[in-house]
Amino acid sequence: MKIINPATEELIREIAEDDQTTIAKKYKQLQNGQPTWWAFTVQERIQCIERFYALLDEQKDELAKTLTSEIGKPLQQSYNELKGARNRIKFFIDNSAKWLGDEWITTEGTTKEKISYEPLGVIANISAWNYPYLVGVNVFIPALVGGNAVFYKPSEYATLTGLAIQQLLYQSGVPENCFQVAVGKGDVGEYLLQLPLNGYFFTGSYRTGKYIAERVASKLVPCQLELGGKDPLYVMDDVADIDQVAAAVLEGVVYNNGQSCCAVERIYVHEKIYEPFVKAYTEQANKMVVGDPLDPATEIGPLSRKEQKEFLVAQIEDAKDKGASIAAGGNIISRKGYFIEPTVLVNVDHRMKIMKEESFGPVTGIQKVKDDNEALQLMQDTEYGLTAAIYSQSFERAETLMKQINTGTVYWNCCDRVSASLPWSGRKHSGLGATLSYQGIRAFVQPKAYHLRG
Ligand code: NAD
Repeated sequence: MKIINPATEELIREIAEDDQTTIAKKYKQLQNGQPTWWAFTVQERIQCIERFYALLDEQKDELAKTLTSEIGKPLQQSYNELKGARNRIKFFIDNSAKWLGDEWITTEGTTKEKISYEPLGVIANISAWNYPYLVGVNVFIPALVGGNAVFYKPSEYATLTGLAIQQLLYQSGVPENCFQVAVGKGDVGEYLLQLPLNGYFFTGSYRTGKYIAERVASKLVPCQLELGGKDPLYVMDDVADIDQVAAAVLEGVVYNNGQSCCAVERIYVHEKIYEPFVKAYTEQANKMVVGDPLDPATEIGPLSRKEQKEFLVAQIEDAKDKGASIAAGGNIISRKGYFIEPTVLVNVDHRMKIMKEESFGPVTGIQKVKDDNEALQLMQDTEYGLTAAIYSQSFERAETLMKQINTGTVYWNCCDRVSASLPWSGRKHSGLGATLSYQGIRAFVQPKAYHLRG
């Protein structure tokens, strides 16, 4: 398998993929190793994770460069991702023992009742490329801490990072027979679906997630899905500083080259401030520095996958055909690498793909609304349900909408944000189940009820 740098289109490395035989061998190792790993105490398992936490920091320069080379995110954002991943790991280090320990429930006469939490066994962690550290640690850290063995399938676009993670976990003391990497594309992921694993934890597109859920349904094991989004953001007419809000929204759109599951993908603006907002947003979008992701001045790097350029151009053309106009950008940048200009479309509506279909790039539409009710109707007009954001000085006004929006996460005066302390969950086509928070610790264990008389 060829690993290509999306900024230069140069070959970084060629790596041998797994096949059915090597996957079966790795699975056997994990099956053998898991009971021994579970026999350690939670604290002992956490000690390994503490070393991993330290190594991520010690080796951050090398790791950030590798991540930028295979994904194309600006180097500073690779450092940010490593820092963010360490924050999440710290949350698991500090909180897991509390949520994994035995719970004594009641004592009635001579009968005592308790719940203990046991690992699922050997689980699959099939992952996406856009934030390999962040979406990875959401799964493999609590899974390992809970006593599971993990069959980790990094995206084919983040293979070098996946292998680096494996190396660091081994260096941290996680036994080789508790963590294995499946190297390859979708067909290698498919081999994992054929195995009798004890849980499937998937991060990626709706299309693949739905397929995986259907494929593993008859196994009757947990299957969690963290999928895509078409996340809306509404700017009310009472915001104090339009320039400042425009800057925050733009960052929510273009961060990670627009390739975040919770990126702002469509913007609604109250008609009273629509014109000044579009002006402020467009001016700032036009100033963004697009280029070499290793250059510290760069704010937007290349798209990670070649086909994504054509996909975004098709969305832009579809919108133009249906009456949208381009307020900024709109073109592929003619240079080596998968670059596209940060693009702003106006005069958009919900007949257009740009307002309905996940874009996954620095491209968005801004639609004018006459009141909060129209904004709510439009925000809800989606198959997805990951996040939604509202900017307003009035918490009461924002809260009225936040309560009605059918998403796993809502934001007031912020966006494109994840906290380790809060559950990360999508609704509808954005997924099933939750990672992070105490719920994301308990997601990788199963309760056992003890009735003890004596
Ligand atoms: P993808 O669905 O193309 O691939 C995800 C993973 O599935 C990869 O490892 C891939 O090799 C594997 N895969 C593909 N076909 C398979 C099959 N038939 N069987 C088993 N495995 C298979 O997604 P992607 O392009 O890597 O990621 C982008 C998507 O992920 C976007 O939609 C984004 O919104 C979403 N995402 C969601 C979250 C979240 O937390 N909700 C986080 C990050 C990304």
